[in-house]
Order: sequence, then structure tokens, then C-alpha cells
Amino acid sequence: MRRALIFFILFFVVISRVNALEVVMPADKKTVTTKDYAFIYGKASNADTLTINDKSVYVAPNGAFAHSVKLHDGENRVIIRTLYGGLTLYKYYKTSPQSVELQVEEFEPVKAYVNADNTPLRSTPVDAGLNRISHLFGGTHIMVNGSKGSFYRVYLSKDKEGWIAKKDVTLTDEEFYPAEFINMDSERFKNAMVQSISFSKKIPYTIEDCEKEIIFRVYNPELSEESVYNLSIPKPVKYAYNVALNEGEYTFKVRKLSENIKDITVVIDAGHGGSERGAIGCLGDEEKNINLKIAQKVAEYLEKRDINVIMTRDVDANVSLEDRVNISKENSADIFVSIHLNSIGDIPMDIHKNKGTSVYYYNNNSKILADILQQEVTHYAGTRDSGVQAGSFAVIRPSDYAAVLVEAAYMTNPYDSMLYTNDKWINKAAKGIAEGIIRYIKLNK
Ligand SMILES: [Zn+2]
Repeated sequence: MRRALIFFILFFVVISRVNALEVVMPADKKTVTTKDYAFIYGKASNADTLTINDKSVYVAPNGAFAHSVKLHDGENRVIIRTLYGGLTLYKYYKTSPQSVELQVEEFEPVKAYVNADNTPLRSTPVDAGLNRISHLFGGTHIMVNGSKGSFYRVYLSKDKEGWIAKKDVTLTDEEFYPAEFINMDSERFKNAMVQSISFSKKIPYTIEDCEKEIIFRVYNPELSEESVYNLSIPKPVKYAYNVALNEGEYTFKVRKLSENIKDITVVIDAGHGGSERGAIGCLGDEEKNINLKIAQKVAEYLEKRDINVIMTRDVDANVSLEDRVNISKENSADIFVSIHLNSIGDIPMDIHKNKGTSVYYYNNNSKILADILQQEVTHYAGTRDSGVQAGSFAVIRPSDYAAVLVEAAYMTNPYDSMLYTNDKWINKAAKGIAEGIIRYIKLNK
């Protein structure tokens, strides 16, 4: 009887150890993928030893682990083994994406209209990355003379072309006729310079952030002879710029950001929210919740310093990327900081490198803010410096203010999971972001 009882107790101990393995990724026993690596992470018992396909895997004191396995074409088996818990088998079926080499198809120029505002004009026929030349207004008249895959080639001038998604334009058989130049003007304000130029119809433009100035170019592609109008405004150290179109008049504005804390509006954007959970951490934590905790603390710090703060969300709710941008523009933001935690893409996980803080910027006018936040967050939060990077995220694409996206730590790194689950660290990360914002505002050179 006694022996049976001991056996019974042991049995439960073993069972509870087995249950101590909680695999977050993969979510299913079978995965079909085109990725090169299987990324496996979750939580084990901290007293346990863990191997994945016979490789010993680090388990953090809180049980978090993360590991990648290289996949080959066809069926791959991934076996997770724990000392007490036996083994669990996962299967991956890898297929290689079929890549077809597309050619540019040339054709005689055709007139087209841009369907909606904010349509990207790109330097390459690729629907991703840092290849946006400008964002065209709905109703802009363009001339297309080639196609590749899902893009048309846009003729701007004899030395300049761009690419636009076919779904974003409507082709017509209308005759070409050039835009008539109407007027050009320029005005200087205390902290801004504005230049305007107007035409009889909407035509394409590009905007270029150069070393000393911002250059706005308007193209009149339907003229038989080349015609490009160049407007340029010298740029201060801390600046923002935009182009607006009103009844045929383009208004190109470059402004200097104030060094006075009282003049500044900061938008704090807690990434994801509601049904958008963001990345799921090793322990099953949802990124959206950690983003919000940090964001609320940042707002608190800034408000204590009398800075006007707008939050894109202060609760667990869905907010579209578009709304986050609209909120910032409507409130005339000077600084926009989006708060996230990172996860790895299709690269092999290195738990010593794929951790810590990275700050992303898109436009050059946000690079200084990114550099400062990178320094302050790693300093206060004690995270690995994983570098400032350029990245094309919708919320940081506007140039109307300085905009960055902070990836404070990695959800999927076992070491970082010890940090972001700790409220003291949340506070330190928030302090780093707030101090960085204040340092940027006060920057005076
Ligand atoms: Zn995120």
C-alpha cells in the first residue's frame, strides 16, 4: 500500500514535470513553411535540462528558452527532449517558394491617374523596404511606359523614373496635355520656411532629404520637352517637413523643431493592442501589454516635466496604423515614439545577439532622435545595444515630425524575458525613453 502510494506520488511529480514544458512556438505539431529556420521557444521547468534535436538549449531561471533549427526541403523532425518530461515531436514541411524571373515589358506611353492619396512611388518594383521616392496625391496625372510584375514604370523626366503598384492607378486612353504652370511663392516664418507652386492639374513630385537642404521636385512629364521644377529649403539640425496639395497648389514646408519643452507635443504610441497581440514571449506574455505598460510610464515621466503628451492608446484596444498617424498629424506632433518589443524574423536565433534594444527611423530627420534614444534606453534599461536601424514601418514614415520606433528588448529572448516581466525594468526602460526625448528636445546646436 505504502509502496503504491510512493509510486503514485512519484507518478504525479513526473507528470507535473512533463506539463512544465510549454511550447509557445510552434503552435501546432505540424507546420508547413517556406522559411529556412524553425524558431522554437517557450517555457520549461527551470530545474530541467532541455535538448532540441540533441543540442543542449539554455533555460533561463524563469524557464524561458529559444532555439532555431535549420530546415531542409521536405519533411523535418524537431524533437524537444527534457530530462523529466520525455520527448515531444514537431514536424515541419518546407517548400521552396517558386521564383520566376520577371522581365520589364516596354510599351508606348499611356496616361494614368493615381487612385488615392498617399500612394507610394518607388525606386524599384518591389512592394517593401526603403524604396519610396514620394507619396502621390489621388488624381495625380502620370505617364506609364512599362510594367514588371504587379508594377508600372512611371516616366517622370528623361533622367528620372519610378514604379507604382498597378492596383493603385487607373489607365485611360486620354490624350496627353502638359500642366500649365500658374504661380510660385515663398514665405519665411519664425520657425519655418514655406514654398508653394501651383499648376493647372495634379502632377507627380519627389522629395529628397539632402545633406544641407530638402529638395522638392515637381515633374511635368507630358511636356514634349523636359520640365522639372526644383524647390529647395535649407534644413536646420532638428527639422520636419511635409508637402500638402490644395486646389492645384503644392505647399512645401520645412520647419525647425523648438528647443523649448513647453512648445513641444510628443505622441507616445503603444504598439499593437486589442486583437493585435504583437509578438508572444517565451513565457506566453503578449507584447501589446508590455508596450502599454512602458508607454504609460513614459507619458507619466514626460507629463511631470510639463511636456504635452498624446497617447495613441491608453487601454487595451485596437488602433489602426492609419489612425496612429492621423492622431499625430491632427495634434501637430513634434516627436512621435512608437514602443514595441522585438522578435526575430527568418534568421537563426542567437540568444547572445538577438536581444536588447534597437531604435528604428525611416526619414533622415529622425536619425538624431533614434541615436539619442538608443543611447538612453540601453543606458537606463541595461539592455544590449543592438544598434540604430533604418526601417520602413508605417507609423514612422511621415516626415511631419521626428518619428522613431523603439524595440526595447526581445520578447523571444530568454535573457530579455527576465527583464520585461519585471516592473522595475519597465520603469527603467520608460525612464530611458523619456530622458532621451527630453535630451532631444533640449538639443541645441
Ligand atoms: Zn511590435
